[in-house]
Amino acid sequence: MGERFGFADALGPEKVIEITDQNSGLRALLVVDNTAAGPSIGGCRMAPDVTAEECFRLARAMTFKNAAAGLPHGGGKSVIVGDPKMPAAGKERLIRALARAIGEIESYIPGPDMGTDEVAMAWMRDEIGRAVGLPRELGGIPLDEIGATGFGLAAAARAAEEVLDLPLSGARIAVQGYGAVGRWAAHNLVPLGARLVAVSDSRGGAVDPAGLVLARLDALKAAGDSVAAYPGATPIARDDIIAAECDILIPAARPDVIRAENVDSIKARMVLEGANIPAAAGTEDSLHARGIWVIPDFIANAGGVICAAVEYRGGDQSGAFARIEDAISRNVTEVLSRAQAEGTPPRRTAVRLAEERVRKAMALRR
Ligand code: NAD
Repeated sequence: MGERFGFADALGPEKVIEITDQNSGLRALLVVDNTAAGPSIGGCRMAPDVTAEECFRLARAMTFKNAAAGLPHGGGKSVIVGDPKMPAAGKERLIRALARAIGEIESYIPGPDMGTDEVAMAWMRDEIGRAVGLPRELGGIPLDEIGATGFGLAAAARAAEEVLDLPLSGARIAVQGYGAVGRWAAHNLVPLGARLVAVSDSRGGAVDPAGLVLARLDALKAAGDSVAAYPGATPIARDDIIAAECDILIPAARPDVIRAENVDSIKARMVLEGANIPAAAGTEDSLHARGIWVIPDFIANAGGVICAAVEYRGGDQSGAFARIEDAISRNVTEVLSRAQAEGTPPRRTAVRLAEERVRKAMALRR
């Protein structure tokens, strides 16, 4: 119990609820971090090894992400201890039990995250009447299918292009993780003139300085193969993508992939963070010291949650894209301009910007 209070500060958390349910076997935690701007939105994560600490950190990250994006929502997160690949009936029982347990906590709107999907959100909504990231049939905007987050990453790169004088036309990009985020980032950047020179997935990577053809990568993934099997490219070990010869490195897979032992091997001019917390503590500062610009995760990858917030208000796909483009490009311009003027790493500027917005919203409340 002691550790929980260690997370509290002036911004939150506002509510912490631990749930155990003997009937369903549910063990879960809900953290509502801050709701000054409106009811919190945040994913529901299911994993066998989720921790309370992870839940607290992710809830705060959502407070910042939603505030930075100018959404009328605070941040929250829920986690369920369990294997997401368990038989569907068991998973449905757990998700429905969680939904019932948090039904009265109207300050939290669940969304999909690792281990949960649109079907899980449909179960949630069926129980308690609210959830985002719903199936299309229930008015949802399928954010991974339309590539909301990858679209937002491209909007971030376009905004950075001007501030940092890093032209996208001819820029060499390297993408770690060719899933919902990485694949759509590539599909949005290549038409702007960028060249995908390196790519990886969980099984390996491929490099071709002349540029990899997206349709061929898509065909490999559709056939269940790894991008490492790309014909004619040079195969590389999975984690070597970090050191790829490129102008823009886009981590879009796992947390903490940029670490003390590989940070100095990065050759990119800019790191565009598609994944959440892809850079371990301290590494962004060392990139900054080497003149490498980082577009922090909660600024760059907000496309998904912006899409969810638009869905929540009954908006459609084109409304979601317009909002993503607008919010992300404004934020990137502001964060990078402030960071340049002050000589600080962009994350520090970005956190300050988000905190300012949360505090302003808090000042308007009783
Ligand atoms: P996904 O499961 O669709 O794709 C993940 C990809 O990463 C897959 O291609 C997988 O093979 C690959 N991968 C896994 N481990 C790897 C490794 N060690 N090295 C290289 N590749 C590896 O997931 P996603 O939805 O694209 O999410 C990717 C990241 O972005 C996650 O950190 C997620 O939390 C974050 N994120 C996603 C969204 C979204 O809208 N989906 C929004 C914000 C942040």
